[in-house]
Formats: sequence, C-alpha cells, structure tokens
Amino acid sequence: MTHTIAILLHFVFAADPGFPAAVQEELNAIFESTPVRYQVQVESGAMHLSEVNDVVYVNVKGGCASKSPWTGGALATTESVDGVLRPLMTVECDKLAAYVGYPPAVPKAMARVLAHELLHYLLQEPHHSSEGLFKASLSRANLKQGVTLLRAAETDRVKARFTGSL
Ligand SMILES: [Zn+2]
Repeated sequence: MTHTIAILLHFVFAADPGFPAAVQEELNAIFESTPVRYQVQVESGAMHLSEVNDVVYVNVKGGCASKSPWTGGALATTESVDGVLRPLMTVECDKLAAYVGYPPAVPKAMARVLAHELLHYLLQEPHHSSEGLFKASLSRANLKQGVTLLRAAETDRVKARFTGSL
C-alpha cells in the first residue's frame, strides 16, 4: 500500500511556478523502490490534503534564485523535540542556490536534501549512513549530477517502516 506524504513548501521568497512539480518528480524518483510517494504543494489556502497519510511542513528560507556566494553552513534541518524527529523542516534556499551554483539546479538539489531529511524523519534515525543520500555531508555532485536513488540499505528500512501497516 502506498504511503502518501504531502510536502508543504512555505516560501519566504516567491519561487518559479514549476518549482514544486520539479521537487516532487525528483523525490518520487528517489523513493521509487519504496511504498512512499510525495505530493509537493505550495502552502496556501487551497491545499489538497484529504488523501494523504502524512504532512511535512518545509519552511523555505532565503531566495532560491539567490546569487550570493557560498559561505558554508547547514542546507537543511529537521526539528527534534525530546528526541522525536518532527515533520517540520527548514531549507536554507539561498545557501542551497549558492552551493549548487545556479538556479536551474535548485529544485533537484532541494529534493535531494529533503530526501535526506525525510529519511531522518521517516526512520526516526538521527544518525547517518556512510554513503549515499543519507551520509552526513552531501557534495555538490550528490546534489546536481545524474540520478540519485536510495541505497538498498535505506530502501529496506523505509519498506520495513511502512510494511507493518499493510
Ligand atoms: Zn542528516
């Protein structure tokens, strides 16, 4: 059975109209071998949440078309309360844009950093893997190039997490 998660993007600065669809396409490609599917929407008064199993709120800080230079720092974080990872994430989109270098690369890069944060949340796992999207520090190449899928290790853990409710 599919576990559908709505990702609500709250943009502090307006993004391109095609941005959510591009994030959704990449997230669903990354999680293709799991039961999890994503609906990425801009947070608004007209959201469609009746057919989703879970909702993740993403505060998108900074401009995704920013041309400011890369100065380091975390690209994304997930809220933790008393050791429980909450479906509340922050993406520093100006830092992300600076890191990957140019605006067209940003939606795919955002999907990949969100995939990393979503693994923390879905697995309730604060620790990292040594390879793949769930390693502690993602390179520019990890965020920009080719096709990035979950490793078998993370795929199996996501499957195990959601097969219990079949
Ligand atoms: Zn992490």
